[in-house]
Amino acid sequence: MGTQFLAKMFSTHIGIDLGTANCLVFVRDHGVVLNEPSVVAIKVNTREVLAVGREAKEMLGKTPQNINAIRPMKDGVIANFEITEEMLRYFIQKALRAMPWHKRLLHPRVLVAVPSGITEVENRAVKDSARHAGAGEVVLVEEPMAAAVGVGLPVAEPAGNMIIDIGGGTTEVAVISLSGIVASKSVKVGGDALDSAIIQYIKKVYGLMIGVLTAEQVKIKIGSAYPVKDEETLDVKGLDFVSRVPKTVRISAAEIRTALQEPIISIIEAVRDALDKCPPDLAGDLLARGIMLAGGGALLAGLDKLLTEETNLPVFVSDEPLNAVVRGTGVMLQEDNIWAN
Ligand code: ADP
Ligand code: MG
Repeated sequence: MGTQFLAKMFSTHIGIDLGTANCLVFVRDHGVVLNEPSVVAIKVNTREVLAVGREAKEMLGKTPQNINAIRPMKDGVIANFEITEEMLRYFIQKALRAMPWHKRLLHPRVLVAVPSGITEVENRAVKDSARHAGAGEVVLVEEPMAAAVGVGLPVAEPAGNMIIDIGGGTTEVAVISLSGIVASKSVKVGGDALDSAIIQYIKKVYGLMIGVLTAEQVKIKIGSAYPVKDEETLDVKGLDFVSRVPKTVRISAAEIRTALQEPIISIIEAVRDALDKCPPDLAGDLLARGIMLAGGGALLAGLDKLLTEETNLPVFVSDEPLNAVVRGTGVMLQEDNIWAN
């Protein structure tokens, strides 16, 4: 009976999807216990943390000069170590508070899903941050692998499985066989790029300035990658670029589709790249197995249709795409052999 037995019995086993837009936490035997935006609000002069998660996201674009709302993972890597650590600490502690006392005696074991493209240095930064944030042992898993496991793809089979995870800051495309990533492509284009494209379009065409939260709402409400039936219009509020007074304009779904074209093309190119890198036999498997979409970007209307048209492969949107990665960590936490000690 060694430390391994004690850790297995008494430490809490936590899986974290450290996303660029959202952070989700899974606790073994409990499920998803936390789901909040990856945003931290700090006081500029003192660097004091004022809010983390949902509360901090509501401040994005609305802060006075002395407060800064930061997304430390914005581009898919830790751009800001200190703030990422604060955020991880807050989320880990919040998840632990919901656990019975005997599950809080030892440091938790933490499995963190990280983007597949990150460097050794960045890997170390995530591990250090998680340790400083209170974790005992920390193990990393590549996010596309976690997503594939989370949506239930048969990753262990000797056959090609393609997963596309479209997050806020990045899109990760991976072909998985025999529980390993065989071909992959990661691009820094995701939901944020779609929001920026909407901001730029509305500014260019209507002279109206809108914020990121408004742009995201426009995307979610009427955004699409392919024409859909009964397309809607939406009244969008912002600030007139010239007169500097508040103004409303009515925007159609077709216009937003035009606005989104460029970033959508980048996503399609990433998929093509991954297909190019895929060994022929595994590429052949995709004809029958198709492509699985996960991440919040998978919810963009018509994206599956457009990808089918562009690749001639069947495309599926996973159930609850925003939870795919964290559910995958949850499945992996069932295995006791993922830990080094
Ligand atoms: P990450 O893993 O990078 O944290 P997520 O998988 O949580 O990202 O996805 C967040 C992104 O998904 C955001 O850009 C958000 O705007 C986008 N998103 C969420 N819901 C929808 C929707 N219904 N339609 C289009 N995009 C959406
Ligand atoms: Mg993600």
